[in-house]
Amino acid sequence: MLRSPFYNVQIRQISSSAKGHTNFFAGSPLNRLSWLRQSPIFLNAIVSSPATRWIVFNDGKPLMATGTSGPTTLARLSTNDVRPWLGLEPIFSQGQHEGSVADPEVTSLQSSRLHGPPIIFLGLHEDENAMHALPSSEFSAKKDAQAMVSNVHGTPYFSLDVTELEEGNVSEVLNERAEAGSVKLEFLDGRAAMGSLTQFDSAVFAEARSLVDWSARNRRVGQYCAGCGSPVYTLWAGWKHACSSLLPWAPRTTTKPCPTGKALNNYLHPRTDPVVIILTVSPDNGKILLGRNKSWPKNFYSALAGFVEPGESLEDTVERELWEEAGIKVLGLKYHSTQPWPFPANIMAGFYAVADPSQPVRTDLDNELEDARWYTREEVLSVLNHTEGLKTGKDAPKWDSGVEEKVEEAKEVPEKLDEPPFKGPPRNAMAGVLLSDWASGKVDIKSAL
Ligand SMILES: [Zn+2]
Repeated sequence: MLRSPFYNVQIRQISSSAKGHTNFFAGSPLNRLSWLRQSPIFLNAIVSSPATRWIVFNDGKPLMATGTSGPTTLARLSTNDVRPWLGLEPIFSQGQHEGSVADPEVTSLQSSRLHGPPIIFLGLHEDENAMHALPSSEFSAKKDAQAMVSNVHGTPYFSLDVTELEEGNVSEVLNERAEAGSVKLEFLDGRAAMGSLTQFDSAVFAEARSLVDWSARNRRVGQYCAGCGSPVYTLWAGWKHACSSLLPWAPRTTTKPCPTGKALNNYLHPRTDPVVIILTVSPDNGKILLGRNKSWPKNFYSALAGFVEPGESLEDTVERELWEEAGIKVLGLKYHSTQPWPFPANIMAGFYAVADPSQPVRTDLDNELEDARWYTREEVLSVLNHTEGLKTGKDAPKWDSGVEEKVEEAKEVPEKLDEPPFKGPPRNAMAGVLLSDWASGKVDIKSAL
């Protein structure tokens, strides 16, 4: 029996589904209604719905709510609550001047938002008995607003980034809301908030945080169109950026039009960067290889990992990373599952790699690893069973090291006599799932050879 408090992080298992294992941050409960992102009629109508809920971010930190006696959860504000932050209507399909409406015939202004804080439509949490809406159903974008909204059965979710609003304006609204609801509202570091998220909230949070981060990085002062250097603006309910040189009122120059006006450009759409997480297993399935990065918290060991490079399959990356980081040759591979990771926008692909433990492990190669060693199942189980065996929250390794995120350093704690031999990753991270599934004997490594 694994006793660590973080081992039992709530993970939704969809045993009868073809999806197999559902990781923390995955399995979104929302129908994203992606075909309606271009419909300002739909979006502006549901913004005003009393059922609508807002997930609010400030400098990448989610707004969390703590009741007088209840746990801390992801805060969901109503449209009435956030109204003072939204700016002038229309919320979507904004024209040149604040308060003006865009010409519906102009495709570069479909659900545009040029003024006010960034807003993203995340999707609809449908009532349990409702059908899942499809583009061909009563949710057709051609319906009028009233008909569409009358078909919405559930909770529409939006995200709102208040980073650039005046601090006084933000705190005034929060204080009023906190007082009315007898809750404490505060923006918490995303990794610190992870331990308070349910599976449902983790998936909504992951979608929202990755998009809010992408939008902020690309709209911030100094961030311009990668095609021509003009400022960018958002359209499609926050899911696309476009170059302002293509707006109908932009001054026409004699130079060539911006290349983003033609073809598909990945810097105008939200990106997801793939990473492989690799737990290396001996051919007899009795040992695993764990390593530690120099920048990780003291005594923390985990699976090896690396970014997928252009022109690589995920399998190629596994092979290259193990060779470059530890001088290890891969004998076989087994895929586990993937996990969205919203710090800032990664997809973690979990693999078991089989390797010969008698070959030397090298840590002098690319200077990333401080140490790497083989552990037996008993050693790993002793860590997982230890109440302090797993790292959590802010102590989790960063995959976006060097950018933006401010994570407090782990505080040095005095050594205790019953310290676990090392600390491992919790189960709400891909590496923790790979580790605990292997330790509990769920992994048949023979099929990888
Ligand atoms: Zn441009």
